[in-house]
Amino acid sequence: MAEFNNTNLADFSGVWVFCEQRQGKLQPTVLELMSEGRKLADDMGVELCGLLLGKDVDGMAKELGAYGADKVYIADSPLLETYTTDAYAKVICDTVMEKKPEIMLIAATNIGRDLGPRCAARLHTGLTADCTHLDVDVEKYAAFLKEASTLPEAQIDALDRSDRNLKMTRPAFGGHLMATIICPRFRPQMATVRPGVLKKSEYDEAKANAVVVEKLSISLSEADIETKVLEVVKEAKELVDLTGAEVVVSVGRGISKDVETGIKLAEELASEFGGVVGGSRAAIDSGWLTADHQVGQTGKTVHPKLYIALGISGAIQHKAGMQDSECIIAVNKADGAPIFDVADYGICGDLFKVVPMMIDAIKAA
Ligand code: FAD
Repeated sequence: MAEFNNTNLADFSGVWVFCEQRQGKLQPTVLELMSEGRKLADDMGVELCGLLLGKDVDGMAKELGAYGADKVYIADSPLLETYTTDAYAKVICDTVMEKKPEIMLIAATNIGRDLGPRCAARLHTGLTADCTHLDVDVEKYAAFLKEASTLPEAQIDALDRSDRNLKMTRPAFGGHLMATIICPRFRPQMATVRPGVLKKSEYDEAKANAVVVEKLSISLSEADIETKVLEVVKEAKELVDLTGAEVVVSVGRGISKDVETGIKLAEELASEFGGVVGGSRAAIDSGWLTADHQVGQTGKTVHPKLYIALGISGAIQHKAGMQDSECIIAVNKADGAPIFDVADYGICGDLFKVVPMMIDAIKAA
């Protein structure tokens, strides 16, 4: 491995987003990361870059630009067509060592959770996994930039950048507290971020047309790749798109007295809004819904326009995945249920009576 000094903080600049694509399609969560990366880069006064690996992926650069990227680095090779940890980690680490970004963001998908730690270990830096919030100390940055603006360019690098820390927040201790973590001594500062927690900005055509594309010349051969992908098998059943849905109707243990009817009611209510059905972990652990339906700390994080919780108590781990929804309606027969603390509208009653009335009212409207 080439000599890589990552303790001289002044050598590093820019916010980077790893742009995960599968079969030529960008993962939607990349656009959330890009939108957040734009805000961080603006606060820091630095460039926002995407790092895109694959085969014939140039066409995606425009979309990345539309969501904020100033520049997209593309590593194009048949050896990168299908994800393998060793090939992707090699290309990413080689590029990071050469270009020295200050921050590297990766979506906490299955691929991101595999790739992030591998790259962080190789780059001898820290990684905060599964973040739900990112921030920089804007005041400290502003002071830094103000000082930098008074100096000749040659002296800017000598300024102390140790305050330029990314504050990476993630749930800890089973979701009972939120830990904010910094990586003060090494660069890049790396974070994997949960899909669905950051908001995607609006598509901006002007930015899409302005994005700069730089093709990387990479060193990668068959010998670098110890794993071989023989076949990619697509899940036969379409997984529920909880994070992309505008309306989510979730069920919890409160449907236990008649699970079949409870789920049917949730499906009917969701279909009135063109939405999808989700569930609490109790509903998933009981085998009433498959794991891709789970909302919460160990499931998906959603922020739909409307979230309806049916027979869900509102445990902290469930709320962690839905409390940022634009509007929350909770139906629960216990008036002290914690779900009512985050609900915009609470209906205290038996869901088997309340939901049919809701469906009738919507149909009649
Ligand atoms: P309960 O807490 O049993 O609540 C059922 C509710 O239904 C009650 O409030 C009751 O009043 C109401 N009810 C009953 N009958 C009716 C009726 N007929 N009409 C209306 N209301 C009715 N949980 C998640 O959801 N997602 C996660 O990602 C998650 N991750 C976790 C991670 C860890 C590390 C741990 C320790 C726990 C996690 N949990 C998660 C579990 C969480 O702590 C709760 O146990 C779970 O959310 C409870 O699910 P529930 O609200 O459906 O069930």
